[in-house]
Amino acid sequence: MSAPPKETPAQRVERVKREKAPWSILEDIKRYAREGIASIPDEDLNIRLKHWGIYTQGDGAGVRGKAVPFFLMRVRTPGGVLTADQAATIASISERYARSSLAVTVRGNFQLHWLTIEDLPAAWEEMAALGLTSMGACGDNTRTVVGCPLAGHQHDELIDVTSLALELDRFFNGHPDFANFPRKLKISITGCTHWCTYPEINDVGLTAARRGDDVGFHMRVGGGLSARPHLAVRLNAFLKPDQVLDALKAVAGIFRDSDVLRENRQKARLKFLFLDHGWTAESFLAEMERRLGYKLAPAGDEAVPEHTSRDHVGIHQQKQAGLYYAGFSVPGGRLTPAELLRLAELARTYGSGAMRLTTTQNVVLLDIPEDRLAAFRTAAADLGLPLGGSPFQRGTVSCTGIAFCKLALIETKAFSIKLAEELERRLPGYTNEVKLHVTGCPNDCGQHWIADVGLQGAAGGFDIFLGGGLGENAGFSQRVGLRLPPHEVADALERLFRFFQESREEGERFRTWVARSDQETLLTRLRG
Ligand code: SF4
Repeated sequence: MSAPPKETPAQRVERVKREKAPWSILEDIKRYAREGIASIPDEDLNIRLKHWGIYTQGDGAGVRGKAVPFFLMRVRTPGGVLTADQAATIASISERYARSSLAVTVRGNFQLHWLTIEDLPAAWEEMAALGLTSMGACGDNTRTVVGCPLAGHQHDELIDVTSLALELDRFFNGHPDFANFPRKLKISITGCTHWCTYPEINDVGLTAARRGDDVGFHMRVGGGLSARPHLAVRLNAFLKPDQVLDALKAVAGIFRDSDVLRENRQKARLKFLFLDHGWTAESFLAEMERRLGYKLAPAGDEAVPEHTSRDHVGIHQQKQAGLYYAGFSVPGGRLTPAELLRLAELARTYGSGAMRLTTTQNVVLLDIPEDRLAAFRTAAADLGLPLGGSPFQRGTVSCTGIAFCKLALIETKAFSIKLAEELERRLPGYTNEVKLHVTGCPNDCGQHWIADVGLQGAAGGFDIFLGGGLGENAGFSQRVGLRLPPHEVADALERLFRFFQESREEGERFRTWVARSDQETLLTRLRG
């Protein structure tokens, strides 16, 4: 008799999820906390726990290393919405249970490391007391809904989506009908005209739009980065605000029921319906409307922003008369608990206590009255996080990298912080905005595809990519065919940015300059 065929990784994950729903193991997790990490069966440790926002972390050797008995935990902060009390709790949890590790992710969430299974229940209990959870922050479910950090506070927004973003997040997270997708489902929603929520690279991107006198939303589907990036396709549909939830249920249903996506974990995102299975915007909309049971109105007017990069750094006026918001630049997204605690104190003392996390890994404090601004500036000066900063500091984004990630090929966080400092030192007069994204492997959590300059980690160095960006003329960065060891990157980028300064036309953006430049010349400048 021949041996039964070996399960593929995708078949194994699907079987494990079918045999026992990942969200049903909460009592098991509490038992594991009492009995220790050795008591956790492999299928819970490496598959089901992810659905609770928990991963085992790497030993510092990345893809060549092993998992260690400590966990990464991602904390859901839908829309980046955060209160000073919640921030203080996260700071305290980081200090007591996570060796003071703390970072803001590119979806405006918190990520902590070094948690033990023994400490998880206590950390969760403290978080739950303030309405925070890690449930669903990783795994094959609906990830934290991303929203504009200035929703409700922005001058030029069509609609305040704060409550809708929170409602959508609450609805999908934990819902048994949406507990087992082929992989993750990422949703973003924005009511403003700048699109810093990156609708083009989410599985579902909702952007505010007008149709006649109505304000509602347009929907894009199937965006994503990783090894095969794909810009989301826009559906010819206009959603009234009260149609959004049903429309998202229909999209989530299509994703959940696409068994063809469950065959290969590398090709399991919604975008692969478009990339590999012949779906189009028209066929997707037709299937959505079949599930909805009615036709949606055609799309209305849309003004695609020329440029979507907004770091929300600095002090700016809100739409509420006499109130200001203050955005702090957080290098590499990495914070200390003391810094977060101080930010929470500043938010309470000078603002309303309302805070926001951004997709550029920064922190915003809201509602500072005009007559308190001077005192606020003085109090914030000793924090060590700038309210301004060089374009390099403000524009640098980094993934987790080899320090904790089991898939990483290279270190990213410390490298990106040092790189920004180095470029700032070498190019003190550089004032043009730049998006400089560093990612530790092709999975692209650092989003190098949408950066002016993208550095993708590889064996022994970084592959250089140039010219990505979203908004009007959205497109991915292009590989230039150069891999550099980390210590040579600053020299190469200094030459490139000097050349840009010399040869750009007035007001020209880096990305436009790259597009019109001779690629061989750019390569020569990078090589030096
Ligand atoms: Fe890890 Fe790669 Fe994602 Fe960076 S891009 S966090 S190295 S999986």
